[in-house]
Amino acid sequence: LEAKEEFSHKTLAMDVMRPRRNDPPLTVITQDSMTVEDVETIINETTYSGYPVVVSRESQRLVGFVLRRDLIISIENARKKQDGIVSTSVIYFTDHSPPLPPSSPSMLKLRSILDLSPFTVTDQTPMEIVVDIFRKLGLRQCLVTHNGKLLGIITKKDVLKHIAQLANQDPDSILFN
Ligand code: ADP
Repeated sequence: LEAKEEFSHKTLAMDVMRPRRNDPPLTVITQDSMTVEDVETIINETTYSGYPVVVSRESQRLVGFVLRRDLIISIENARKKQDGIVSTSVIYFTDHSPPLPPSSPSMLKLRSILDLSPFTVTDQTPMEIVVDIFRKLGLRQCLVTHNGKLLGIITKKDVLKHIAQLANQDPDSILFN
């Protein structure tokens, strides 16, 4: 099995993660600058099971991960039951609300639905290890970072597709290995 490395190039997390090279960027939510309307637009225009939460678009520093279904329920509830929550209300996942002018509408704190320690690997992690982690920890998704910046996401389905591809690889390489 050692010889395998000599012939085949190791697949890395960056080869399997989304977005792919020419895809639109990862859909993320910022920790304290998006409005209820901004987040509702993301929910309506994408079908992803969850969204990484970052400090800001510029920094791409990962703060946590939020599930789509938790967002939907929390926003629906807040719109119905929480006074002053409107489309222009700012959503924040931080401990304290961001400093906004006193005239701004009520803000919506959603820290309680944020997973503050989503599993992450670096882009250079070999897929063998990623597959192992998914199996052992029963992960649904894993985030990919480079130098602390968020780069992409790998879901359980992405891992399963990757395994299926390995099984179908061309006969020559299988013979070699
Ligand atoms: P599944 O992989 O089970 O279909 P999703 O619907 O969450 O789960 O993801 C669909 C595809 O989109 C996957 O290939 C995944 O890597 C990618 N993806 C997941 N979340 C995001 C996101 N927030 N932004 C961009 N791509 C994403």
